[in-house]
Amino acid sequence: MEYYENVIDLIGDTPLVRLGTVGAGLPATVLAKVEYVNPGGSVKDRIAVRMVEAAEAAGKIGPGGTIVEPTSGNTGVGLALIAQRRGYRCVFVCPDKVSEDKQNVLRAYGAEVVVCPTAVPPEHPDSYYSVSDRLVDEIPGAWKPDQYANPANPQSHYETTGPEVWKQTGGEVTHFVAGIGTGGTISGAGRYLKEASAGRVRIVGADPEGSVYSGGGGRPYLVEGVGEDFWPSTYDRDIADEIVAVSDDDSFDMTRRLAREEGLLVGGSCGMAVVAALRVAERAEPGDTIVVLLPDGGRGYLGKIFDDEWMTAYGFLPPVEGVTVGDVLR
Ligand code: PMP
Repeated sequence: MEYYENVIDLIGDTPLVRLGTVGAGLPATVLAKVEYVNPGGSVKDRIAVRMVEAAEAAGKIGPGGTIVEPTSGNTGVGLALIAQRRGYRCVFVCPDKVSEDKQNVLRAYGAEVVVCPTAVPPEHPDSYYSVSDRLVDEIPGAWKPDQYANPANPQSHYETTGPEVWKQTGGEVTHFVAGIGTGGTISGAGRYLKEASAGRVRIVGADPEGSVYSGGGGRPYLVEGVGEDFWPSTYDRDIADEIVAVSDDDSFDMTRRLAREEGLLVGGSCGMAVVAALRVAERAEPGDTIVVLLPDGGRGYLGKIFDDEWMTAYGFLPPVEGVTVGDVLR
């Protein structure tokens, strides 16, 4: 018999898949590290398991404990998976702009979801930051992973993502490209690859135009999960050799192409990272190997990036008769 004891054992060891169509005709080979095959559907399973294990080792959470985190997406799913196994309760706090579908995914895994108003400043008592802090204080045995400040986040990528890329490419990787949200992926995997290659591997961050990492002032963008308007402590500013800023338009166009041309139904931050990887590939040396990390799958974005009306309403597709911008934007 061949089986896994539980789904937690399926986290990591994700495959590399060549982007032979969108990357055709370029001097370098572009390989995608496909993270949606993790059991919770994203790269965030990796950090969830390590953050919980580190907290247990430090005595911050134990039997009967509750995980409280302001998250609406991938990190919540990862935490919910591991919480089930350990018998912890999960309470996620999210702003009301988060779609019902996303909230329901978290509830489906057995988590509780507390919804807070989006239209209040972070310091307001009803903001999702304030509410999550209050819940941590009020619930006995509560622990907040705080993925933006938890060293186990980058460390999980130093211990898993980085070594996997190195091993899978037989040490031939020349560039590693990843989007930056908390910065955990690029900081941890990037540090490992720099060390393993004695500094040879070039680390490239991909960032939405307007985000601080690429020099923006926090101007809004629509791609989800990446870019920030502050500098989290999980981001190591010394790791990336280069940051490539990508527009929403280019990110979403590539996201749709990945589904149609590569059979990869992935999220918008994946399209963004691939745009950056292809720009790097255009000026690479023949024989270079570029690995680009694709954080999640596309099912959570069917009503947005893969919806023609939504794309048209936001000006990413040319106007079509019968679709009014205001209809969808409301
Ligand atoms: N893409 C998506 C969809 C994400 O959820 C995240 C995590 N916020 C990232 C990219 C960026 O990863 P990291 O936080 O490790 O920088």
